[in-house]
Amino acid sequence: MSDAAQLGEFDLIDKIQSRLKRRSARIKLGIGDDCAVIDAPGNHYEIVTTDALIESVHFDLSTTAPRQLGRKSQSVNISDIAAMGGTPHTAFLTLGIPPKLPARFLDQFFLGFNERCREYKIELAGGDTVSSPKHLFINVTLLGQVKKNRLFTRDGARPGDRIFVTGSLGDSALGLKILQSPEKKWAASAKNRAELIKAHVDPTPRLRESRILAQSKLRVTSMIDVSDGLAQDLHHLCRRGNLGARLDQDKLPKSKAMEKVCQTNNLNPLPLILSGGEDYELLFTLKSEDVKKLLRRFHEINTPLALIGEVTAKSGEIFLQRNDGSKELLKRDSGFDHFRSFRKKRIDRNRKGRL
Ligand code: ADP
Ligand code: MG
Repeated sequence: MSDAAQLGEFDLIDKIQSRLKRRSARIKLGIGDDCAVIDAPGNHYEIVTTDALIESVHFDLSTTAPRQLGRKSQSVNISDIAAMGGTPHTAFLTLGIPPKLPARFLDQFFLGFNERCREYKIELAGGDTVSSPKHLFINVTLLGQVKKNRLFTRDGARPGDRIFVTGSLGDSALGLKILQSPEKKWAASAKNRAELIKAHVDPTPRLRESRILAQSKLRVTSMIDVSDGLAQDLHHLCRRGNLGARLDQDKLPKSKAMEKVCQTNNLNPLPLILSGGEDYELLFTLKSEDVKKLLRRFHEINTPLALIGEVTAKSGEIFLQRNDGSKELLKRDSGFDHFRSFRKKRIDRNRKGRL
């Protein structure tokens, strides 16, 4: 009999989904996208997302400050609302608290959590508080609204559509690497180091950019936020339409900090960019005729945006066009999977190393 580790996160979700028989007409979109979409009167849908952060899987208390954790627990959910073109409004917070957690920790956690609520006009409306035998457990459920005719989903890309990503990729994964190896002397300036670590511990969700896309007439055909890594999340965009994609290596966006730190530490940035994960950037496809208009709009708001490739009709074939002209096929399970997680192994290895 197979266990969870053998199945993997995405096959497990498929299994849950395939067992659902009935679906109410009120649910416009159920399992499978960044948010569930629920019908509502008027011209808006209600959208809902939920995300858990678990100590020793998503964060380590020795490297994460409680205030940042409070902020991040909201940010990762805001990012899912942004991925649908929505605006968040109401949150529910569940905490599983180990008995030894200092009260000071919770004060700082709420300081960060409330900062994010204020910044994004989100109101905390409920939740649950339970004890957890060992590890801190945080779950946020976030509700939002989206205009019915400007809902972006993972479904809808067509061959020939261009693929875009906001900001830069791999910073969070490199920030985590730096955090997890304090004994290693990274050849990196304090500024570069701080920038990469911030990308991991306190990411900024791309809500502003998503609002701009939603308020425009640009023909965005599909969208997702990059949480599992570019390669894997691109598979999510291609999957239901039986599509493939070409990614151009020379177009993949790197921050100056990542470029510099990889160079001086003799590190290959490509695996971090393709499958590092937790970037919380927007990955979307657009009709080719709208490319110029989109680039102009993002230039005006000063947000970096990269045209990284094109959607193809070759089902499941997502390949990287390398700088040397060769092609590399990128597998669906190349990113972060909770049950085959390389990151968790790294945390565990690191912890053993410290004992
Ligand atoms: P994201 O990375 O955007 O948060 P996930 O990969 O976590 O998305 O989840 C993908 C989809 O599967 C979402 O629609 C989510 O609601 C759904 N899902 C995940 N776990 C479960 C579960 N245990 N029961 C029902 N739906 C689930
Ligand atoms: Mg998401």
